[in-house]
Amino acid sequence: MLMETSQASARPLVDTFGRSVSYLRLSVTDRCDLRCVYCMPERMIFMQRQHLLSLEELERVARAFIQLGVTKIRITGGEPLVRKNVMTLFNNLSPSLRDGSLKELTLTTNATRLADHAAGLAEAGVRRVNVSLDTLDPQRFTELTRGGSLTTVLKGIEAARLVGLAIKINTVALKGVTEKEVDQLIRFAHGDGMDLTLIETMPLGETGEDRLAQYLPLDSLRRQIEERWTLNPVALRTGGPARYARIEETGGLVGFITPLTHNFCEGCNRVRVTAAGLLHTCLGQEDAADLKDVMRASQDDRMLVDGIRAAIQSKPRGHDFVLDRMSAPTIARHMSNTGG
Ligand code: SAM
Ligand code: SF4
Repeated sequence: MLMETSQASARPLVDTFGRSVSYLRLSVTDRCDLRCVYCMPERMIFMQRQHLLSLEELERVARAFIQLGVTKIRITGGEPLVRKNVMTLFNNLSPSLRDGSLKELTLTTNATRLADHAAGLAEAGVRRVNVSLDTLDPQRFTELTRGGSLTTVLKGIEAARLVGLAIKINTVALKGVTEKEVDQLIRFAHGDGMDLTLIETMPLGETGEDRLAQYLPLDSLRRQIEERWTLNPVALRTGGPARYARIEETGGLVGFITPLTHNFCEGCNRVRVTAAGLLHTCLGQEDAADLKDVMRASQDDRMLVDGIRAAIQSKPRGHDFVLDRMSAPTIARHMSNTGG
């Protein structure tokens, strides 16, 4: 397989607004063993298997991005750990961590299978994982995930902690739920040295639920938190939409991801590739470049690299999420398809 000349690959990925792209979110499946109420409908229609990239193709995409200067890759989904043999991908990307071309390989998971994979992930060089957890109430967890078990997830988190993985808990802010739970989530996360990030729901795909009824603006949740905790803003910038504060009483970090009430697209450093090989340069726009066809047309990576470069040139300025359109999805594809 031919690769770009070193001179060409030395050119970093920079879009027309001057933003460097250094972060890839790579979705390995759109399937999931849960059905979170804000993410997908109960009877979700998944992609047909023949449309998915093979593990070898996913690795080829990852390598092309590394060659183009991407230094951080997050494996996501759907639920990445339900993809058969997904550990092969982690293991095969591990040498890039060792030689320094990749600075971070990580994943976002619902943790249902984390107990089985935590040790393997640590061995492959993964140092941090994001775990999605919206409630610590077992019954509410089963309701919100439409059938999941909180006990299984907590065992997954414990297994990850035992092998030394740093954990960030991601909680989607839900009206009527998170206001009551946030103190407990702060104590749970910070009590065990984990960060906590709160995320506003985004209007992505039909879920069979009323998004407006679920939507809890983080501005108002933050004010409620500040009534009980002391939040000191922290100048931690990740190139993403999160803003962080340290809670004086716990010493832990709390992040706020507010794509709707604030728009931080001007510093966006990331792109996403779906499990079917579509490159989305913005989570909140419909633009997509098909890398699967390009890859299958030639074993030479030149076309793939050119396809990626061309797509980056059309990265939109920002998303168009609109709050008053929350009842209907602004973007038809689900978060589980694009990769969170
Ligand atoms: N299944 C894995 C998980 O839940 O961590 C990874 C994929 S999931 C799509 C990635 C993240 O997206 C999760 O933290 C989830 O809570 C979040 N998410 C899903 N749908 C969302 C939506 N409509 N708005 C905001 N966040 C969403
Ligand atoms: Fe599955 Fe993650 Fe979506 Fe929940 S948020 S349904 S765990 S993909």
